Amino acid sequence: MESFRAEGEIVVIGAGMAGLVAARELQRAGRRVRVLDKGRGVGGRLATRRIGDATFDHGVPHFTLGQSGFVDGIAPRYLDRSLVPWSGTPTAGNPETSLWRGTPTMSAIAKQLALGVEVHLGTVVTALRRESDHVIVETRAGDTFRAEAVVLTPPVPQALALLDAGGYPLGSDLRTHLTGVAYDRCLTVLASLEGPSRIPPPGRLAPGEEPLDWILDNRLKGVSAGSAVTIHATPRFSEEHWEHDRDVVGRVLLKAAAPWLGSKVQGVQVHGWRYSQPRVLDPVGCRVVTSRPFLALAGDGFGIGGVEGAALSGASAAEALLQSLPDRRS
Ligand SMILES: Cc1cc2nc3c(=O)[nH]c(=O)nc-3n(C[C@H](O)[C@H](O)[C@H](O)COP(=O)(O)OP(=O)(O)OC[C@H]3O[C@@H](n4cnc5c(N)ncnc54)[C@H](O)[C@@H]3O)c2cc1C
Repeated sequence: MESFRAEGEIVVIGAGMAGLVAARELQRAGRRVRVLDKGRGVGGRLATRRIGDATFDHGVPHFTLGQSGFVDGIAPRYLDRSLVPWSGTPTAGNPETSLWRGTPTMSAIAKQLALGVEVHLGTVVTALRRESDHVIVETRAGDTFRAEAVVLTPPVPQALALLDAGGYPLGSDLRTHLTGVAYDRCLTVLASLEGPSRIPPPGRLAPGEEPLDWILDNRLKGVSAGSAVTIHATPRFSEEHWEHDRDVVGRVLLKAAAPWLGSKVQGVQVHGWRYSQPRVLDPVGCRVVTSRPFLALAGDGFGIGGVEGAALSGASAAEALLQSLPDRRS
């Protein structure tokens, strides 16, 4: 077991959009930050997976942009090489909107954000405890981080579970706000195909009927060398079939998507996103639990939700932290 301590230590939990933006904003203000994430790579739901010569964006496929603070701040400051519009011809049932994506993949957004950030991957945080003016961050490996400030960015139910595991004091009003945040689930199929799909350029289609939410062609998108299709089920189907056998779920979704596949399926994986997109948001930018030690929750459960909302929430937590510990630089 190792114990880490540094005066003025700031720990950010989660290397998704919210956590990485918080870390970059804190570093910009001259603070030393460590980011802990349980995953093998950065990004959280900005997720890309390779299976042979097929590459899949299997989390968020694209997102809309438009919030001040993001388009005129975070995006030009940190994402100048990894964010591009994903435009194309409108198709029936799929009117063109101003959608953006990562280049070459969605996870590239997180990789650019993580440049110069000390990220500890494969680090599962199991509990947060309060010890006088410090937050004690405990990990599954038995390590502890003694932090003066923590920004906690997993989906809100997971963040709440970490606080409860360490008996971190929470007022009843705050608990009510946090337990109100709710997310949709999303069952996702990753299918590699022998040949091209029938999805029209630019490679995305919203069939507009159960059980399919989106079908995405990763080759047309420019993500994959091989023919690779991501199928996202609707929130309703995902909720109803969450506990079902994943092979069976995969076959049901492939059958529904068959008219747009057009080629023989070579390989299939099914992924379940327990927290895909928030259905009920906490409208504030972030929630400060305690100001000394500083502990705040941020992420897409706050503010406007989605990728932009997660980024703005991370920035909001960084700003609250800097106001709470104004003068110390590492
Ligand atoms: C299928 C799907 C479709 C989507 N579609 C859209 C869309 O169209 N538009 C849009 O704007 N958004 C969409 N989203 C949502 C978007 O991806 C998220 O809003 C955004 O990426 C959330 O970022 P975040 O940093 O708040 O959370 P996350 O990306 O979830 O990051 C949280 C991080 O915390 C880490 N973590 C969790 N628990 C622990 C722990 N105990 N210890 C250590 N680390 C931990 C996780 O590994 C993760 O990396 C979609 C998401 C999915 C899955």
